Amino acid sequence: MRTYGAEATLSVLRAVTDRLRDGLLAGTAEDVQSREDAARRLEAAARDQLAERFTPSLRSVINATGVIVHTNLGRAPLAAPAAMHAADLAGAYGNLEFDLEHGGRGARSIHAEEVLRLVTGAPAAVVVNNNAAAVMLLLAALANGREVIVSRGELVEIGGGFRVPDVMRQSGAVVREVGTTNKTRAADYAAAISDRTGLILRIHPSNFRIEGFTERPTVEELVGLGRRFDIPVAEDLGSGLIEPTTVPALSDEPTVRGSVSAGVDVCCFSGDKLLGGPQAGILVGSPSALDPIRTHPLMRALRVDKLTYAALEATLLEHARGRAQDTIPVVRMLHADVDEIGTRASALASRLADHDLLRAEVVDGMSTVGGGSAPGSALPTRLVRLTPTTGSSTELEQRLRSLSPPVVARVEQDAVLLDLRTVLPEQNEQLATLLGDLTPR
Ligand SMILES: *Cc1c(COP(=O)(O)O)cnc(C)c1O
Repeated sequence: MRTYGAEATLSVLRAVTDRLRDGLLAGTAEDVQSREDAARRLEAAARDQLAERFTPSLRSVINATGVIVHTNLGRAPLAAPAAMHAADLAGAYGNLEFDLEHGGRGARSIHAEEVLRLVTGAPAAVVVNNNAAAVMLLLAALANGREVIVSRGELVEIGGGFRVPDVMRQSGAVVREVGTTNKTRAADYAAAISDRTGLILRIHPSNFRIEGFTERPTVEELVGLGRRFDIPVAEDLGSGLIEPTTVPALSDEPTVRGSVSAGVDVCCFSGDKLLGGPQAGILVGSPSALDPIRTHPLMRALRVDKLTYAALEATLLEHARGRAQDTIPVVRMLHADVDEIGTRASALASRLADHDLLRAEVVDGMSTVGGGSAPGSALPTRLVRLTPTTGSSTELEQRLRSLSPPVVARVEQDAVLLDLRTVLPEQNEQLATLLGDLTPR
């Protein structure tokens, strides 16, 4: 009663009693030996149902898919300092909009701005709910009722119903397409500039790759064009890679620092892709481009709460300290070396050596960056390949999803594949125990 509340407890007790009564009348219920037996059974059934009903639908899972920025699994797991800072603020008041020095009202937007300046090199920054909101807001603030010049090769669908041309129209901007799907030159942009032009927009086509006969102006060329005609240039970078990395899969990924130093007026990116922080949309650029964004009426609808600021600021501080590779899970997973993953995979496989239900072996495979980042490139990995001794691999995969916590894996060529690249080190032992304890149903 205390645990589940009177209302839910009563309604579940009624439901299980009705079911037993109906079963007894219809002769389909198991034999009831006595009153006590019936009561015991009702209590057990009610307890199970209540426990299920009171389990939150959102739970943590073990990601053994090898997809690092897995959108369906909540993208980036937070770094420990970010999770701790968010937890700290979650159960307390905070100086979200309070100036501790002067004792009066303060600005919410200052919280991540300083560290964003430090990490990206941009003079100003604004944080909103996600990158889709950032794109929407920058268009509404900088180009409402005016033409936005954009390459036909960049009018992409990012996924989940986010189509660039639709978002542009929703923002009140007028889409002015230039070039073709595979080739757009700086001259195409130049020819489209008129007194109706409000903005030049460049979008990173983050989830696909066009190969072959292609051309696209550099960001420097677009900035030059914007300067010449006094038109702001904005760039949607998507994944938010701060600076070039040594990870070959990310060699084509544009960087925030690259765009900032090229002189883009405003660029935007997600907080929970390659940055490895909470869901957020981050806009950085010049104060003259960001002021109308900061003060736009939509900002009130798109702003973030203290938990996001807390997690984002702590994540950015890890980048600023230069230890992202050690502390931020997404960054660590991107850099994880195949031998290290192989060692973990072998350890897990040998723990499962005498298993009744499955055979485990270590094989070569590929992890992916995910989240629409680095399309077409993969990272070499070592997989634990599980073959069930009875039943199908699809059944085994389902079984893994029903564990607590659920284990999400992929099925390929009649085997279940576990990629430990995306399994957090602190979940290693838990995963081994869960798999080791699997018994026939
Ligand atoms: C992912 C992505 C978005 C959407 O970002 P969200 O943070 O998911 O809203 C927009 N543009 C590009 C280029 C992206 O890659």
